Amino acid sequence: MVEYSDEEHTIQHFTHFHPLKPVVDSTLQKHEVVCAICEKLCSSSSSTYGCTECKFFLHKSCMTSIPRQLINHLIHPCTLLFLTTPRSYRCGKCGEDIISRIEFRCQRCSIHLHVKCALLPTVDSEDAKEIQHFSHPHPLALIENHKDFNNEPRCVACVETCLAPTPTFRCSRRSCNHFFLHKSCALKLPYLPAHIVEPPSHPQHPLTITSLPYNDEIRTCGACNRGFDSCLIAYSCQED
Ligand SMILES: [Zn+2]
Ligand SMILES: [Zn+2]
Ligand SMILES: [Zn+2]
Ligand SMILES: [Zn+2]
Ligand SMILES: [Zn+2]
Ligand SMILES: [Zn+2]
Ligand SMILES: [Zn+2]
Repeated sequence: MVEYSDEEHTIQHFTHFHPLKPVVDSTLQKHEVVCAICEKLCSSSSSTYGCTECKFFLHKSCMTSIPRQLINHLIHPCTLLFLTTPRSYRCGKCGEDIISRIEFRCQRCSIHLHVKCALLPTVDSEDAKEIQHFSHPHPLALIENHKDFNNEPRCVACVETCLAPTPTFRCSRRSCNHFFLHKSCALKLPYLPAHIVEPPSHPQHPLTITSLPYNDEIRTCGACNRGFDSCLIAYSCQED
């Protein structure tokens, strides 16, 4: 059993339905307890709060720093709200279930995100080794092992070869081993929020950026009618 200290330091916090109590540090050496926000272990060196009934735990530092909403981030065009949910939804970023019952949600688009997935750094955070980018559903890692450049991968945005030491991100999932993106391209790529931008080449509907399935049939560009390589990313209209 994880033990809790005295009742008087109980906090009612917006991250949980029930009051949270400080956890007695020494019990964290015997029990592996994971923070619902950062999903890292709560060790006895950091103060931890928890709910007895739900096995819901938070680092105190995560609890005090979590924003109630995310605005102007490079994940999704709308404002995302922090919410507690009675059931678990599938994360719109990584595709896994959100079992901690806390999430960031776009209520307009019914998009649910793990807190951890929503808070991953974006490309504009200096020196981030792992980022999320709207061009791809999975986190992207900065290439540190130069062997990753051996097959002369091409950047999905500019189609140029990715060469060391140009800072380049890649998706580390096995199924996505073709996804490479120059850091400079990640910064330059225009972000077209689906609800706002209506480019002149396609005035009827706004365009959103998509990652085309690898090895899918060659598609042609609706503006110039030329084909493009199927490992590239492209802007597409969801309504056509
Ligand atoms: Zn934490
Ligand atoms: Zn609870
Ligand atoms: Zn996720
Ligand atoms: Zn939205
Ligand atoms: Zn590039
Ligand atoms: Zn991927
Ligand atoms: Zn259209």
